[in-house]
Amino acid sequence: MSKQLSLFFVVEDSAITCKRLSAMLEICCEADHNAFHIEFALKDIGVNNLFIEKVIEVKKYFNITADYTLACRFEQLSELHLRSLAKKRFNIKLLLDDAAQLQTFSKIAKQVARFFPKAEVFVNKQPVSIPNLTCDIDIPLRFDCKNGVDDILKNLFNDWLFSKQAVEIKNFTDMLKLILMKERNGCEYNSCLGHVLSVDSSGMVYWCKHNRPETVLGHIDDCKTLSDFFNSGQFENYLDIHYQKREYCNSNCNRYEICQGGCPLNCDLSQKEKCSEENFIAVIDHITNELRRGIGLGDLSLFNKHARTIILNAIAYAPFSEFFSNCNLEVK
Ligand code: SF4
Ligand code: SF4
Repeated sequence: MSKQLSLFFVVEDSAITCKRLSAMLEICCEADHNAFHIEFALKDIGVNNLFIEKVIEVKKYFNITADYTLACRFEQLSELHLRSLAKKRFNIKLLLDDAAQLQTFSKIAKQVARFFPKAEVFVNKQPVSIPNLTCDIDIPLRFDCKNGVDDILKNLFNDWLFSKQAVEIKNFTDMLKLILMKERNGCEYNSCLGHVLSVDSSGMVYWCKHNRPETVLGHIDDCKTLSDFFNSGQFENYLDIHYQKREYCNSNCNRYEICQGGCPLNCDLSQKEKCSEENFIAVIDHITNELRRGIGLGDLSLFNKHARTIILNAIAYAPFSEFFSNCNLEVK
């Protein structure tokens, strides 16, 4: 079976990223495709013509997802800044129309959201208003959970699950697929080690998609094959530590199927009796309970269309799952 490998590119400077993208494309085209199933993900795509051409070229060989962020660090935005954000959003929409097979998930910081009334999106502890959502979004589910965001996330999930809006909230759909079908997508509940490479615009390659400094694997110019990236002692050390943690979790925790020991960066073997994912787990439990409650009502038309599709797939995939026993499900 081939190994899933997600390649992330931070697109800070489109021209430089083009060069890195070309280098990675070359390495990937040389790779043994029976050994790797490769997907490209472009983080925060900007727009220039050269870059768009490169994206369309890569698209010939591999699946691509792209996200963009309309964010700003300042409370007060200048007119100029606002105009450039609006242009960026407009251009990205053009790109997406031209290459409809691209998927996109937007994140918009709260300072900016109020200037885009048709795309209000949650960020920084502010709840999203589901009826106002007009574009698909991606929400980090662990976002500041320690500071009490759990309730915001829980309410948001409930609103979304039963809303008539056709928007996708990617982390929620990922979570439903995980809970109902054990299908893993997101990094927050996955063993990502060896399945992720991320390239920043300076060409440094990391094994975490968030480019954490402790996860550097080397420079793209120094590697000729995909395996070269993972052949470092430091990476093997992480692998070993996380493996031990997972063994512990597998024997001791009934959420292992979902959490798989959590993020490798949270792994502290000296504390392995203590769960490193408590806050995230609160969100998982809530989603599981709401899903069970909703399915128990027996009417699939109560769910939004994305959730409904996943539930229908899950019924086909695992009709005897505990979720569907005692339910007489129908779409009214
Ligand atoms: S190391 Fe953690 S944060 Fe980074 S990609 Fe893996 S799961 Fe995600
Ligand atoms: S919930 Fe905690 S103890 Fe359970 S598998 Fe995840 S990290 Fe391990």
